[in-house]
Amino acid sequence: MRFFDKWRKKETKKEESLQIYEKGLSKSRGSFVSKLQELTNRYKKIEDAYFDDLEEILIMADIGVDTVLRFMDRLKKRVREEKIESPIDLKEVIVDELFVIYVSGEVLTSKITYRDDNPTVLLFVGVNGVGKTTTIAKLASRLKKEGKKILLVAGDTFRAGAVAQLKNWSEKVGVDFYGKEEGVDPASVVFDGVSLGKKEGYDVILVDTAGRLQNKDHLMRELEKINRVISGIIEGEPSETLLVLDATTGQNGISQAKSFQEITNLTGIVLTKLDGTAKGGIVLAIKEEVGLPVKYIGLGEKEEDLQVFDIEKYIYGLFKDLIGEEKNG
Ligand code: GDP
Ligand code: GDP
Ligand code: MG
Repeated sequence: MRFFDKWRKKETKKEESLQIYEKGLSKSRGSFVSKLQELTNRYKKIEDAYFDDLEEILIMADIGVDTVLRFMDRLKKRVREEKIESPIDLKEVIVDELFVIYVSGEVLTSKITYRDDNPTVLLFVGVNGVGKTTTIAKLASRLKKEGKKILLVAGDTFRAGAVAQLKNWSEKVGVDFYGKEEGVDPASVVFDGVSLGKKEGYDVILVDTAGRLQNKDHLMRELEKINRVISGIIEGEPSETLLVLDATTGQNGISQAKSFQEITNLTGIVLTKLDGTAKGGIVLAIKEEVGLPVKYIGLGEKEEDLQVFDIEKYIYGLFKDLIGEEKNG
């Protein structure tokens, strides 16, 4: 039982970030995880109907049908080989196997490397309303606390109010801002913003964009142009192109990711609004169906609710009630 043994051995010292995970995932625990608990209580022994119910719970949790089917095959195999008979004994195997989905295969790291010779440019893409601008603000604030000199660049010149929104955030957070009026070519804003950032010796430049998936060809050209402009000013940048996805949109988010992968070269995912979903399984679908690392997650509206993604804290935050019960019983 790789996962839980590790946690049991750990001093369950409650670092602040773990508490934020626990709190942010409480909706999912109350729904998805409590259904798993209820399933365990309902069946005395493992039978076909138990597997059918389990499969349905996992699919409802946004893990993704294909991923769930593969998972079920592995689980059934373990039940056979290890001669597991009681749903209580299977509970931990389920969590263990869910953990394995994320950690097996290609290693996905959440770490972002910041360079010191030139500004690191992070480009944020994603459809309207997913949380790009607020994520940029939260991240800017965190990086500022680390002592970095931050510039925000308003590359969303399409949506009404987007430039002003980012500017307001920059003032609230206390970092610098570069933008022009709405409607201008975003590549020209990015050109001037990144040039300024390089000249003035900023450490990190966070670039907001408008993600109009309705017009894929146009978006592709726009992002190509933005990329060309950035790498022309600072070779090797942008270091990261982060796709922001709203966790409450479930499988729709997965198809957004697939569309954006066709349009531009993504390096990672920021998964927002996990606090607003009762499903919680989408992280696993992203790993299996998109294959990109989740770098940050949003667990609420406050600044500290943006957390570096950590699969162990995530699985613990989701399933901790199942561990707790094991200790008492
Ligand atoms: P954009 O259109 O992609 O730039 O999205 P915005 O940054 O304007 O965010 C849209 C809404 O999502 C705002 O009301 C944010 O406060 C909200 N939001 C963003 N991240 C989170 C999160 O992690 N949790 C919650 N509950 N709300 C979030
Ligand atoms: P094109 O517009 O498709 O030909 O793409 P380019 O790569 O030539 O330029 C992209 C955008 O960056 C342009 O729309 C310009 O607004 C901007 N740009 C490129 N070079 C310069 C420059 O030397 N100065 C300024 N201010 N903007 C530039
Ligand atoms: Mg925005």
